[in-house]
Amino acid sequence: MQLLKERILRDGIVKPGNILKVDSFLNHQMDITLINEIGKEFKARFSDCPVTKILTIEASGIGIACITAQYFNVPVIFAKKTQTLNLDGEMYTTRVESFTHKKTYDVVLSKKFLHSEDHVLLIDDFLANGCALTGLIDIVKQAGAALEGAGVVIEKGFQQGGAHLRSMGVRLESLAIIDSMTDRSLTFR
Ligand code: 5GP
Repeated sequence: MQLLKERILRDGIVKPGNILKVDSFLNHQMDITLINEIGKEFKARFSDCPVTKILTIEASGIGIACITAQYFNVPVIFAKKTQTLNLDGEMYTTRVESFTHKKTYDVVLSKKFLHSEDHVLLIDDFLANGCALTGLIDIVKQAGAALEGAGVVIEKGFQQGGAHLRSMGVRLESLAIIDSMTDRSLTFR
């Protein structure tokens, strides 16, 4: 998505540890005009899918998922991060290692909001090693729901998450795939 790539080149900042900061437009301050275009693009790419729910993980996926959901006319559900596993049987639970915080979280989603009849589209801001999306896929499987695909705004193509998910047969749409990045240059696939 050209508009997004231009914005990453203009305002993205590469930090040590392979972190791209996009907090001026995507995940701290949010440029709603841009995110609206992102939502439209996800709708165009998954227009043939009978999506009934959009699933993301807190926190930074939520805003993007909400704007995207307006184009699909479906609810957004998000997995909540918790540091203590609540063994309540009414929750789907899975473990996710956070790339940015280097911590492992239990994430939970109420069983009330995801069922075997659902067709799920996953949405997140970044794809790095794929832990967040793999955790969400585990929740979809626990629910017996159908996974329609995963839409990510920025895939760091030099990390293994994208290849792993594609090898699992997941229909993955990334709006910008970064091939390489240093504090001086950033290239897209
Ligand atoms: P993964 O689980 O694929 O390793 O990492 C994805 C999650 O980590 C995303 O939900 C995102 O919040 C965070 N993340 C991974 N890489 C980056 C990055 O370069 N910049 C930012 N801002 N977040 C990242």
